[in-house]
Amino acid sequence: MDKKQIESIGDNHISFNTKTPLLKTAFDKSDDEKVKNIEFHFSKIMTELGLDLSDDSLSGTPYRFAKMYVKELFYGLNPKNKPKLSVFENKYGYRKMLVEQNITIDSSCEHHFLPITGYAHIAYIPKNKVIGLSKINRLVDYYAHRPQVQERLSMQILLDLQDILETEDVIVMICAKHLCVSSRGIKDKNSSTTTIEYGGVFEKEDIRNNFFKIIDNANL
Ligand SMILES: [Zn+2]
Repeated sequence: MDKKQIESIGDNHISFNTKTPLLKTAFDKSDDEKVKNIEFHFSKIMTELGLDLSDDSLSGTPYRFAKMYVKELFYGLNPKNKPKLSVFENKYGYRKMLVEQNITIDSSCEHHFLPITGYAHIAYIPKNKVIGLSKINRLVDYYAHRPQVQERLSMQILLDLQDILETEDVIVMICAKHLCVSSRGIKDKNSSTTTIEYGGVFEKEDIRNNFFKIIDNANL
């Protein structure tokens, strides 16, 4: 791929796959080994930029950076960190829409490794299974903590929820700001990006509109 193509994929935020592209060897090394290796490589980057790593303020940065990448920002790459999403029988027979909104999105763009921040709004209409509310937040947090594109993040959350809730009737809406749009490139501070993925009865416009109305009314 030449440099022009590389820039164009980044600026257009193009992704090619619903699954996060991972190497087969992605989890052969322990987290601590990864932290050690990334610390080494990031110190090289800092040195290449001309920074003096013997300075007290900078000397610990490669370690802090590596630990932050492996254990915080990108903990969601490793399936072993996936939250347990226990579901329960829908014993009370609730069959209407359940909306969980303003779920914090703290993610990173996979093209520039800069923050994506915003909110997810999610709804489902239960059939036989219901899920603990905080589990939806945990699932969002998990998939957000990977290098991402917003479209893929929305789809990964949708597909998992449809799978464990055993229903297609799920909608995932994400409204987020991308630092790679606001702080570099076009440098637009105000624009934001909205993605909406859904299935089942949410294909119907009136059902979707009900969801949007609830979101609007509740965002007080
Ligand atoms: Zn980006």
